[in-house]
Amino acid sequence: MADFEAMKVEILSGVGRAKAKALASVEVETVLDLLTYYPRRYIDRTNRAAISDLEDGVEAMVMARVDSVFSKRLKGSRTMVRVTVRDDTGRLGLIFFNQPWRDRQLSEGQEVVVFGKLDRYRGQNQMTNPIVDLVGDETGRIVPVYPQSGKAGLQTREIRRWVDEALRRSEPRGISDPVPESLRQRHGLIDRHQAIEGIHRPDSINAQFTARNRLVFDELLRLQLKLIMRKRAAERAAHGICHDTSGELVNRFTASLGFPLTDAQRRVIAEVVADLARPVPMHRLLQGDVGAGKTVVAVAAMLTAVQGQHQGALMAPTEVLATQHFLGIRSLLQDLTVPASGTLLAERPLKVALLTNQTPGAERAHIQESLASGVVDIVIGTHALIQEGVEFSSLGVVVVDEQHRFGVEQRAALRAKGAQAASPDVLVMTATPIPRTAAMTVYGDLDVSTLDEMPPGRTPISTRWARSAAEEAEVWEQVRAEVDKGRQAYVVCPLIEESESIEARSVTETYERLQAGELTGLRVGLLHGRLTPAEKESVMDLFRSGAIDVLVATTVIEVGVDVPNATVMVIVDADRFGIAQLHQLRGRVGRGDQESSCCLLAVDAVGVAAERLRALVETTDGFELAEADLELRGEGTILGERQKGRNDLLLASLRRDKDWVVWAREAAGEMLDDDPDLQQKSELRAEVELLLVDDDADYLLKS
Ligand code: ADP
Ligand code: MG
Repeated sequence: MADFEAMKVEILSGVGRAKAKALASVEVETVLDLLTYYPRRYIDRTNRAAISDLEDGVEAMVMARVDSVFSKRLKGSRTMVRVTVRDDTGRLGLIFFNQPWRDRQLSEGQEVVVFGKLDRYRGQNQMTNPIVDLVGDETGRIVPVYPQSGKAGLQTREIRRWVDEALRRSEPRGISDPVPESLRQRHGLIDRHQAIEGIHRPDSINAQFTARNRLVFDELLRLQLKLIMRKRAAERAAHGICHDTSGELVNRFTASLGFPLTDAQRRVIAEVVADLARPVPMHRLLQGDVGAGKTVVAVAAMLTAVQGQHQGALMAPTEVLATQHFLGIRSLLQDLTVPASGTLLAERPLKVALLTNQTPGAERAHIQESLASGVVDIVIGTHALIQEGVEFSSLGVVVVDEQHRFGVEQRAALRAKGAQAASPDVLVMTATPIPRTAAMTVYGDLDVSTLDEMPPGRTPISTRWARSAAEEAEVWEQVRAEVDKGRQAYVVCPLIEESESIEARSVTETYERLQAGELTGLRVGLLHGRLTPAEKESVMDLFRSGAIDVLVATTVIEVGVDVPNATVMVIVDADRFGIAQLHQLRGRVGRGDQESSCCLLAVDAVGVAAERLRALVETTDGFELAEADLELRGEGTILGERQKGRNDLLLASLRRDKDWVVWAREAAGEMLDDDPDLQQKSELRAEVELLLVDDDADYLLKS
């Protein structure tokens, strides 16, 4: 691979200045780029239609010869290119809007493959903006089509010739195959030379699949090798705290809860505690649906630190959430005392503090002092925790809630509050689960624990999608009926990404409209991001205490707000939210023992937006929804944040290749068990280094 990377495409015969430039425009500069310039799709020539057989409104593929090309400027800067093609059976017009380069791409006499839908216009056969590929006199049965090649002026035939040449020239030395024979056999993988050939020149659609499988495996294997190597190297380099896990504080805590732990909580706490006992700092991601009971796990982790004379810190993304956590955790820990040998009773009360930017100066100074001296055992807060001046006596466990809301630097800053000599253990929590195989890829360098079981006695939330004005009216009736029964409701207004002030204005309008109309006579409150923290807190207090019946809010209530008496969640313009966010919002109700419901208002939702709403109506299982989300959005968005540099996942798809992800991870783990630095597999190691940029893998270790 390194050899191919070192060769510029110009060394191939037939690649002169013009072709090199065309190749560069599709980011192919080296022979390695060329070999990994994979076809976007394949044309199976046996499926082609004759022009005279085309049916109106039906998609089809024809092979034809260009008769004429005619280009025209339209109003504004728009352009139209009109091309006529013919085969033995008839003529077909192709109309291209705003693709002026078609004029250069197509010329009389060329052989083209056209794929599109026929529409008959004034008695003429034509296709608008069809896909066109230049295949020349290609004779194979399966013809690859390369991405953007038409625009770049490249023909399949040429690309294939260059690939052939590269493969032929490498023959004397052979293309190395760093994947051991035993592994190839286990998964029925063909060798790499065959795979590269097969992806560019498959002799059947099946051959293309076999080739693809092999190359997909290679991509995923490299990624997993990198992730696992980094994780293990970081573990070797860092010094953590060996927490004393023999104490009884955690047991006291779980015994003091008014409920038994779920099996999932028990399992996950054991995983966390086992990490804490090791000298290696923990980097664990805790995923669990809204309401799965992550807080109990977080508290157990922090208490493990406390019983060994260390401290715990929990950072939440918003003021409201931090306060909520503080109130909740303080009450969970109310009666708990810490074994303390030096004191008269050999026990002392546990000290929990809240630190946010709203904490008044004097109190803040006091808390900071108590943190530095070790008087405070557990501190809960916002970004205020990572500000200068906040020092710990001995920070042992850091918990970050809703990790996706924090930047990498913020998480690293909190971790850096630990002692120089020993890094604190880190638990990041998220209520936005991602499918298991996606987690292996995106969070492959973290350990992942999953709370996949809900505490018993939850009343399921029923979800309905109101699609008409009449159904919307029923929703407001339902809100009034619940309030009559003494319950409360949330109304969430659409997300307006461009501007917080527009969003505030829009939610205020909705608030006023509802108060004057559908919800008249009820006690309605308003919450949005533009209020001061004190105002927000006072609205939340009123809602918590029941002095407000209906809270009209922006997504500031998305995470963590816990008001068990709220039984209805109305989401206005629900089609403007993503699945994960809708699911989060819905999780704000169903927190008490009353039946709860979520109403999605979206009269004109169609397409993918409608699919999202349908998924929400069908299931309340966060993991099922995560799968649905992945299906609907594609993996780009999940990987997006991490894959900025060179992306080695050219073929692999987290949706299509789930099994390969699992197998590659397994294989990578085994290889590294035997050979931690891949010393005996230097080729493979070189490939990993060549093809993967560090940024990708760095990303989460910092978090
Ligand atoms: P989340 O995972 O969304 O952070 P929380 O930790 O806030 O969930 O827990 C949601 C609610 O469930 C809280 O009121 C909590 O006290 C309660 N809870 C947690 N674990 C259990 C359990 N094992 N049995 C019953 N209720 C539980
Ligand atoms: Mg929570």
